[in-house]
Amino acid sequence: MATRVNEKTPAERLLEVLGPVDRFHDTDEIGDFGMPARAYMEHMLEPVARAGPTSRLGPLEKVHAFWFAGMSCDGCSVSVTGAQAPSIESLLLGAHPGLPRVILHHPVINVESGPHYMNAHENAIQETLDAPYVIILEGSISDETKALETGGYWSGQGEEPWGPEGEMRTVTTDEWIARLAPGAAASIAIGTCATWGGVPAAEGNPTGAMSLMDFLGQDYRSALGVPVVNVPGCAPIGDNFTETVAAILYFLQGFGPLPEFDELGRPAWLFGETVHQHCVRGAYYEEGSYAQEFGDKECLVEIGCWGPVVNCNITSRGAINHVGGCMNAGGACIGCTMPGFPDKFTPFYKIPPGSRVSTTASRLLGSFIRPLRSYTNSHLNRETRWDLHGDVPTAWARERGEPSLVQDAGHKFYDRMRRSNDTGRKSKNDEELVFGKRVEFTQDKRPKFEQEQEERVLEKTDRGIPQDEES
Ligand code: SF4
Ligand code: SF4
Repeated sequence: MATRVNEKTPAERLLEVLGPVDRFHDTDEIGDFGMPARAYMEHMLEPVARAGPTSRLGPLEKVHAFWFAGMSCDGCSVSVTGAQAPSIESLLLGAHPGLPRVILHHPVINVESGPHYMNAHENAIQETLDAPYVIILEGSISDETKALETGGYWSGQGEEPWGPEGEMRTVTTDEWIARLAPGAAASIAIGTCATWGGVPAAEGNPTGAMSLMDFLGQDYRSALGVPVVNVPGCAPIGDNFTETVAAILYFLQGFGPLPEFDELGRPAWLFGETVHQHCVRGAYYEEGSYAQEFGDKECLVEIGCWGPVVNCNITSRGAINHVGGCMNAGGACIGCTMPGFPDKFTPFYKIPPGSRVSTTASRLLGSFIRPLRSYTNSHLNRETRWDLHGDVPTAWARERGEPSLVQDAGHKFYDRMRRSNDTGRKSKNDEELVFGKRVEFTQDKRPKFEQEQEERVLEKTDRGIPQDEES
């Protein structure tokens, strides 16, 4: 087997081409730039955030979070702004007991612009930032060494005086990531493009698009020893991301263990099970009832659902605030959280070939199980008195009709099976077991102890003794 010797990661190869940087903006000389001039989001939120009563119990008062967009549609940003548990607002305000407040540097959400926005990034590169930082990537990493060959770039953020002669040049997302990842407390990929390459890495793409973990390499560990954290989905569930961030912050603060991640860096508690295992349509699959077109209520596997083999929790968590989410809203699973997405799931909305085995088996079993369940269901939908024959004191029972002799026999047989081995209440001469205790019964079917107690009370009353004087 071939052994890799000193193989460089794409990040290392990029920095080798670009070389080190040591020139930065002089913000005093820049003057006011953009709108609103010289406004920093951190300073605007600080009076409120600092007032948080119990959020500074650990060593960290705040943590910076640098958000970068690679080859992305911004859908991850949109889904995160809808997160509820916890919400972005509560993280920014340090509203969670024990958590440091998050100083977010997001190219769309922040109020800073131009060099003022880039200021914290520069400080992080120079290791003069006033608190630890994490980096977050949405969108895939493109191979900027390819674009450099023609003097262009695929995706970038801000300008820095990092040209060969100190001239300004656009800094690519890749470069920021390559320079900042080694010093980050954690590197988090959000969305399938950042976690596995996603749509920009589909067959035929010219950009060399790849995931954050492929860019940084398998040996990457953050400054605190954490491998790349992956929260996939296209778009991901916002709560999956904010909950993971909160778990990591608790760890950084020393209040919790390192959250459990699977071998692909996914939060294990969120991606450990398949969509199918929590799907609201699972019972239809089991009974062999399948939708034939969108809008049908049954299982969607025959119109292209890959749920049985896809790790995703959207059916139990919902898309936003426990509402919506693929099958809950009528959509088939196209495997958007998976490393093989999209190429291994196309063409979409076509029955996955492997599912034919289990759907055929479920159909066969279902043709037998469904009538049995329907029979029992109709029996359970009747009060017991409606099953009596003759004069029954309810008009509704007779609306439902008397049970036929065959039904009677079937239900009696079923009831006998149901009551076999019933240890809760079993006749034995004139004794019965009530909740496991043997109780004697009188001839008129009353518990004997009740009758004895009543007799004692009557005896005392006859003798004129008040009841509460009983010794
Ligand atoms: S709709 Fe998909 S996930 Fe749901 S039960 Fe059917 S195959 Fe499974
Ligand atoms: S159910 Fe499938 S398509 Fe829907 S979010 Fe999960 S992985 Fe993506």
